Amino acid sequence: MSVLSRLKIFLLIIIISLIGGCNYFSPRKINIILITVDTLRADHLNIYGYKRNKSLLLNYLRDNGVVFENAFSQSSWTLPAMTSIFTSLYPSEHGALYGTTKIPSIITTLPEMLKKIGYYNIGITPHTFVSRKYGFANGFDIFDETAILGHNAINSFKITKIASKQLNKIKHHNKFPFFLWIHYFDPHFNYIRHTKYNFSKKFDKTLPDIISSEWINKMKKEKKLTEEKKEYIKDVYDEEISYTLEAIDKLFKLLVSTNLIKNTIIIFTADHGEFLGENEKFFHGKYVNNELIKVPLLIGGKVLSKQRLLSKHCVETRSIAKTIMDLLKIRQHPFKGNNLFSTNKKQYCFSEGTKAFEKTVERSHSYSLIFNKWKLIYNRFPREKSYYKLYKLNNIKGENRNLFRFSDKKIQYVRRTMLRRMKRQLILLSNKKKRIKNSNKISLNEKKLKKLRSLGYTAF
Ligand SMILES: [Zn+2]
Repeated sequence: MSVLSRLKIFLLIIIISLIGGCNYFSPRKINIILITVDTLRADHLNIYGYKRNKSLLLNYLRDNGVVFENAFSQSSWTLPAMTSIFTSLYPSEHGALYGTTKIPSIITTLPEMLKKIGYYNIGITPHTFVSRKYGFANGFDIFDETAILGHNAINSFKITKIASKQLNKIKHHNKFPFFLWIHYFDPHFNYIRHTKYNFSKKFDKTLPDIISSEWINKMKKEKKLTEEKKEYIKDVYDEEISYTLEAIDKLFKLLVSTNLIKNTIIIFTADHGEFLGENEKFFHGKYVNNELIKVPLLIGGKVLSKQRLLSKHCVETRSIAKTIMDLLKIRQHPFKGNNLFSTNKKQYCFSEGTKAFEKTVERSHSYSLIFNKWKLIYNRFPREKSYYKLYKLNNIKGENRNLFRFSDKKIQYVRRTMLRRMKRQLILLSNKKKRIKNSNKISLNEKKLKKLRSLGYTAF
């Protein structure tokens, strides 16, 4: 080979490697931000048609991605719901079902998988149920728990500050992409007034600035929970949401000003929703009504293809991990579910409700199965008769009229089909459950248990 030919080959190699190094849109160089907001109902966001609670970030995600109109969490309280997002498994499969259980270490989580393929992982949590103790720190390079300050703390801007500090540190390095998970907590009870939004200004000062579970339970017991008070509760809940969204938008502005936004996919969702007085129910957990399991879900980023669509068929938030893997073109991963961008409308959505703390051996369990416009609920609570409910979902509020006993032929057909699917799903889960070893127990001392109970986790 002549010297000239050798030089040509050498130059070619240099050029190829330079192109490779500058390949900014290589799937593996895409940053991922997962924002989860505790206790956030989809129907209390402006992006879903609500009168309040606008957000710059959510508008950006709508304009550069997808708004999922019918997204369902796999559970109605934090620990099982977030574990499903992190593992892609249903609650009975991962086993983090009660306040004394955690993510089993044998299960690979989303951050662990991302770490394996070269991501730098940062996690920020303000909530005990998604803390190191419950297995959520697995796979993170940085895991910040300094914002765990209890149910009366206001901490959304503190969380944004911690996240901003981390982003400012890494904005200049482009050696490896990052995964940032941030959990916001303020919409969770206790609801605290943020007078700058003034949603609740029309109410007199006899109502408390902090709405606690104790106060609501007391009002219920004394039969003093008037329509006016219920409206006040909703207004203060909305103030908490607006406050949280403002803190999230502050982070969004940083992503824009640092240009990190250019190469980042953002996923926005909630762990579960909240009862706000429907059928005299408040808070969350145990049940699987739509108020509790229907959550916001938006995925967007400039790196996604320009095609914008509004997804109306039902999707499960446990599919987030698989969707991320598909976006990054990672074929070998353990995550289950459906790609959220799939246009396959024949999907069903399954959720499970459990009570966080319960002394009985026979635990509460409720199941929800959604297919097309139909929803079947199966409730199995100790000392109560098990029962089914069948609903046709025709608005965002969910269940209106129980059709389970209706004799109409079409409804009988739907009931049969849904019962068959539910039965199949429960058999599938009980088979898989046996495979997970009993490696997920955590010990809580009586003081800690008492504190968690006092926060309302048993007061549903
Ligand atoms: Zn939660």
